[in-house]
Amino acid sequence: MSRETCTRCLVGYDPRLTGQRCPVCDAPAPGAPTDASPRRDRLMTIVVVAAALNVTLLLAVAVAVARAA
Ligand SMILES: [Zn+2]
Repeated sequence: MSRETCTRCLVGYDPRLTGQRCPVCDAPAPGAPTDASPRRDRLMTIVVVAAALNVTLLLAVAVAVARAA
C-alpha cells in the first residue's frame, strides 16, 4: 500500500484511491502524473478514502498493540 503525504495540507492518503489527488485540498499527489485518471465522482472518492483511512488506523492500532505486547 503506497501512502503519500500532501505537500499542501500534510494529510496522508493513498493516491491510487483518490485519482492521484489530495482528498482534502485537491492538490496533485507528489510525483504523480497530473491527470493520469479521469475525475471520479467526488462523493464516492470521499467515501473510499474514509474507508481506507479507517482500515489504516485500525491496522496501525493493531500493530502498536502487537508491538507493546
Ligand atoms: Zn492536501
